[in-house]
Amino acid sequence: MTTIVVTGGAGFIGSNFTRRALAETAARVVVFDKLTYAGSLDNLRDLESHPRYAFVRGDIAARDDVVRMYRQWSPDAVVNFAAESHVDRSIDSPETFLETNVRGAFELLEGARRQLRGADDATRSAFRLLHVSTDEVFGSAAGDSRFVETTRYAPNSPYAASKAAADHLARAYHRTYGLGVLITNCSNNYGPYQFPEKLIPLMILNAIEGKPLPIYGDGGNVRDWLHVDDHCAGLLLVLRRGLPGETYNLGGDAERTNVEIVDRLCALLDEELPSAANPALAGRAMRQYADLKTFVADRPGHDRRYAIDASKIERELGWRPVYGFDSGLRHTVRWYLANRDWCARVQGSGERERLGLGAPA
Ligand code: NAD
Repeated sequence: MTTIVVTGGAGFIGSNFTRRALAETAARVVVFDKLTYAGSLDNLRDLESHPRYAFVRGDIAARDDVVRMYRQWSPDAVVNFAAESHVDRSIDSPETFLETNVRGAFELLEGARRQLRGADDATRSAFRLLHVSTDEVFGSAAGDSRFVETTRYAPNSPYAASKAAADHLARAYHRTYGLGVLITNCSNNYGPYQFPEKLIPLMILNAIEGKPLPIYGDGGNVRDWLHVDDHCAGLLLVLRRGLPGETYNLGGDAERTNVEIVDRLCALLDEELPSAANPALAGRAMRQYADLKTFVADRPGHDRRYAIDASKIERELGWRPVYGFDSGLRHTVRWYLANRDWCARVQGSGERERLGLGAPA
């Protein structure tokens, strides 16, 4: 049986990927996660009794943990989702981003190189390390242009810079050591199990609770949105059929300004949970959720627009997103409404009280 280790598999995208990998492959899937504030075993509850699933707590930036992981599981593939992923936090305290996103990526690459040193040629050439990265490494898209795989890197936040550094290391480990590295750069994801500090879940939960919906600057910053299921389907495809050393961009061809997203979420909530029927809003004389919108000071270094050209993965691997943005967003709103207990559990420790005052990624 082949083994896939999913680092950061207790987070948003990693948990969705783990679910899909168990459903669509015959591999054993081992989640390796430090369980920071952003990771939760609650994201994997439905998989706990699966015979091919295992969980290991570990830190990708701790060499001993990584060496132990490679020795114990001898993975055929490692998919690296583990990261500090929130731009605002990277502005407040960049150091943990360097530790996990750069040092951690390095330890995974180096661990693989060491592990494969004594292996036979077939094992070495079959091994894959899929490094999951972001479109934020490209900086702000100029004019109407979209990011292609060869767009110059120009990261503008400590988060984006740490991801860019890791991408470069991953590329170098392929070029220098022939390691079977694949890199993907994806646009903003949305969907179930996203920690409620990011734009879409934060807005849904704040609206349900009758709290302000903070929007940075003029709300005109543009992001390209992809449903997490479509991202995970693309990642599995890259893992199976991508060429080592190659980079693939993934995006939803769904560019929206932040204020458009918030307006759409408010309109969906007006349908799914009319404010008149929401006890949190009783007595507030609110006609619609959009009345909660609040514009706040812009984030420093805030990129104006991200836009992905995903034609390479479409052409070479036949990937295409399945979700339309509107149906994906409605599905997401319904998921958060149906899983308020999950939201309460992962929020924990007063964390979101602080975040509710700040503005979203
Ligand atoms: P997330 O913050 O929801 O999850 C990160 C996970 O990594 C958590 O489970 C956390 O516990 C774990 N983790 C953190 N530090 C760790 C460490 N040192 N060792 C082991 N585990 C650790 O992140 P996400 O949104 O699921 O993103 C996953 C990956 O995808 C990240 O690398 C991110 O850069 C990339 N990405 C995210 C998006 C997006 O829109 N969310 C878009 C493109 C790319």
